[in-house]
Amino acid sequence: MKTESSVKIIKLGDHDFDMKGAQIIKTNEPLVINEVEKPKPEGNQVLVRVAATGVCHSDLHLWEGGYAGPKGVFMKVEDRGVKFPLIPGHEISGTIEEVGNGVRNFNVGDKVLVYPWLGEGKCPACLSGEQNLCDNPRTLGIYQNGGYAQYVLIPDSKFLIRLDHLEFDSASSLACSGLTAYNAVKKAKSIPGLEDRHNIVIVGAGGLGLMAVQVAKAIFKSKITILDVNDQKLAEARKLGADNIINTKEKQDVVKEVKDLTNGFGTDVVIDFVNNNVTSVNSFNMLRKRGKIIMVGLFGGSMELNLPMIPLRGYTLTGTYTGTFQDLTELVELASNGKVRTVLDRTFALDQVNEALHDLKNGKIIGRAIINPNQ
Ligand SMILES: [Zn+2]
Ligand SMILES: [Zn+2]
Repeated sequence: MKTESSVKIIKLGDHDFDMKGAQIIKTNEPLVINEVEKPKPEGNQVLVRVAATGVCHSDLHLWEGGYAGPKGVFMKVEDRGVKFPLIPGHEISGTIEEVGNGVRNFNVGDKVLVYPWLGEGKCPACLSGEQNLCDNPRTLGIYQNGGYAQYVLIPDSKFLIRLDHLEFDSASSLACSGLTAYNAVKKAKSIPGLEDRHNIVIVGAGGLGLMAVQVAKAIFKSKITILDVNDQKLAEARKLGADNIINTKEKQDVVKEVKDLTNGFGTDVVIDFVNNNVTSVNSFNMLRKRGKIIMVGLFGGSMELNLPMIPLRGYTLTGTYTGTFQDLTELVELASNGKVRTVLDRTFALDQVNEALHDLKNGKIIGRAIINPNQ
């Protein structure tokens, strides 16, 4: 069901011709397919011809203009530095079309995945290699134009990862949902020597939860228990390697279920991909001494903490947002070796971008929807 793209070729001064890009002009209004200037790479910049861009939930938040905050407060993306018109899309793969004269490590025609979580390069986070948590983020598709377009300009070739063994469509979402799951699982690592006595509980068997099960199985020996309300998703998690599955709709006392599975002690780690008022309390209460909660989900809400429990039981509470370039490199390696796979839904042409976003919003997408801007 793809429509033909029609690109007008125009000769303009310092850029070759225009390209088609889907822009958010105003929040909550349909994206507009416009002909925009095709960028010309200079220095270390690279122009990528986009093959596939994943449609992510954060694209919906951008389109809607923000997130629901506490007590009905709407946190506007424009207050956080997002400017419209903007071409969204941060899960980008494609082929190198053109390189600036400073680029040595890549050539025209190379297949690449883009690391989109760019920082300004100078803050403590950037200098620690965690530019995904930069104080002045420059993320592609959020703070600068992204992959809902035929071409995207990458500020430096060091943000590219070669894709020799992966298809574009399945590789794209590694850059966001895959990366988030990967980074969260890495934070769940056991102390060496105790791996086979280590328990990880994963809350939520959606795309991230299912990826987390695969990653945990691939890199750890820990016992994995996954919680969800949907039997179908839990069955998929079991297939991918989860040792225990718990349907939290059927079991009244989830905390007791987890304690029963861990000789009454509780779990060493919880990775909470939902992270709302209900799951956060359960996650806290099912921890073993020295336990760690890794909060990932953005469903919103708040929790009341039993403060003495944190010192008495030596708990750690932490959060995770996407991951580093190094994480993405490692994840692409795992995917290339067939250790993890992404679940795809269907593909859309650039002209169908609004349909893709509506379907995602209305829960009609299972796995990832992909836009193929050049088809
Ligand atoms: Zn995303
Ligand atoms: Zn920074």
